[in-house]
Amino acid sequence: MQNFKIIILGPGGVGKSALTQRFISGNFIEAYDPTIEDCYLKTVKYKNKEYKLEILDTAGTDQFTSLRDVYINSGDAFVVVYSIDSISSFNDIQSIIDQICTIKESDPSPLIIVGNKCDLDEDREISEEMGEMLANSSRCSFIETSAKLDLNIKEIFYDLLSQLINKRASMTS
Ligand code: GDP
Ligand code: MG
Repeated sequence: MQNFKIIILGPGGVGKSALTQRFISGNFIEAYDPTIEDCYLKTVKYKNKEYKLEILDTAGTDQFTSLRDVYINSGDAFVVVYSIDSISSFNDIQSIIDQICTIKESDPSPLIIVGNKCDLDEDREISEEMGEMLANSSRCSFIETSAKLDLNIKEIFYDLLSQLINKRASMTS
């Protein structure tokens, strides 16, 4: 079975742990524990084949940016999360994307930008178009999600998985 390692990155409080838990266990965590950092395994089926995903939910607070290099080096694909109700979280992800592109320069890796908390539309500070523009300029995917309402969570991982499968296929052909 093919095995892929997916790293979840982004500023604190944007919902990295909530969306990881939603995908892994189907539950939503209301509480916020900024220290949670854990690795999860999930076997998924895609086009009649099974794949093993190793998902690392990082703590991603600013004092640990040097650790990020280590995580990025170990990853096959990346989820970079901001929260649509926080312009500062959106501004913060640019440097994370740059860091991934620099470290993975010789081996460009699938990446998806995620605008989480799209259920908080009344508090929205980042339009969907702004997210799309950032993704276009970074040549990666984009999706808005809600871990709370279970909107588009699976789609994050299936997008990356299809990118990963295409990448491996083009490398071996
Ligand atoms: P992390 O620091 O990025 O891991 O953030 P958490 O996953 O711990 O989430 C931070 C807070 O935001 C928690 O109180 C969550 O319940 C809340 N949260 C996470 N995702 C959503 C969402 O999609 N919608 C709303 N309304 N709240 C969310
Ligand atoms: Mg967390």
